[in-house]
Amino acid sequence: METVYLNGQYLSKDDAFISPDDRGFLFGDSIYEVTRWYGGYFFDLPGHADRFRRSLKETRIEWDDADKFEQISLDLIHRNDLGSECAIVYFQVTRGVAPRNHAFPDPPVKPTVYGYARRHSINTLACERGVNMWLTPDPRWNRCDIKSTALLANVMPYQEAHDRGCAEVCFVREGLVTEGAHSNIFFVKNDAIHTHPESNYILSGITRSNILSAARENGISVIEEAVPADMLSYMHEAFFANTTGEIVPVLKIGDQVIGSGTPGPVTKNIQRLFRDKIEAANPIR
Ligand code: PLP
Repeated sequence: METVYLNGQYLSKDDAFISPDDRGFLFGDSIYEVTRWYGGYFFDLPGHADRFRRSLKETRIEWDDADKFEQISLDLIHRNDLGSECAIVYFQVTRGVAPRNHAFPDPPVKPTVYGYARRHSINTLACERGVNMWLTPDPRWNRCDIKSTALLANVMPYQEAHDRGCAEVCFVREGLVTEGAHSNIFFVKNDAIHTHPESNYILSGITRSNILSAARENGISVIEEAVPADMLSYMHEAFFANTTGEIVPVLKIGDQVIGSGTPGPVTKNIQRLFRDKIEAANPIR
């Protein structure tokens, strides 16, 4: 039986009901967070918690118990007997239930808070062998820095990529590569890592920030500048990264083979350094 968290209670998923007047359902007026549990500990839970609180602040969704994010995440792991498994915790907060109206409910209503934990393992084949990306204009809004559940503009291109046998989308805005539909994108040129800077055009990935710190700590140059899409043929390596999939080498973007068309040495090194970071986070090493 799957136990979920809904509005202060832990209950069987079969007993969890959300109103059709919920603004998350009607407007996508809600934010979310996804964390990774490595069979005994979370990886960078403080990073996820900070981004979660930032998303609440930026959307002006008020949840009085936001400081319980970490504890609820841990409870969900244990209540679902996932303590020694690899898992994810999904956490969503909507602006709450009110008759449909664009304006925020006045007086404010309690947010709807939902969380679940689920067994999860990464696609090791993709991480070893690499995958292709589909190149397409970025159709999203100007607040990609908010981890909003309003993801239609991510879902539609992702499905197109999937239909074309690609594992992820490579979004391009005004000629510059921004990010993927659910990941940040990195390039390697002359042994330096290039990636889009933090801005309203990308989600500031927790994996991204750990990759960049691992790179800097190990003497790998990091250039936080967007890569023009017409420079892809000059890139030596590429990879994308997120919490659920970790670091995935990219062989081809659109019609452009990247470098040798195989996972490159810098990508493999970053994968190792990131793994070391995950191991180092284990409190019972
Ligand atoms: N960019 C987008 C649009 C995402 O949806 C995600 C994760 O879901 C990321 C980047 C990577 O973020 P993180 O590394 O925190 O999972």
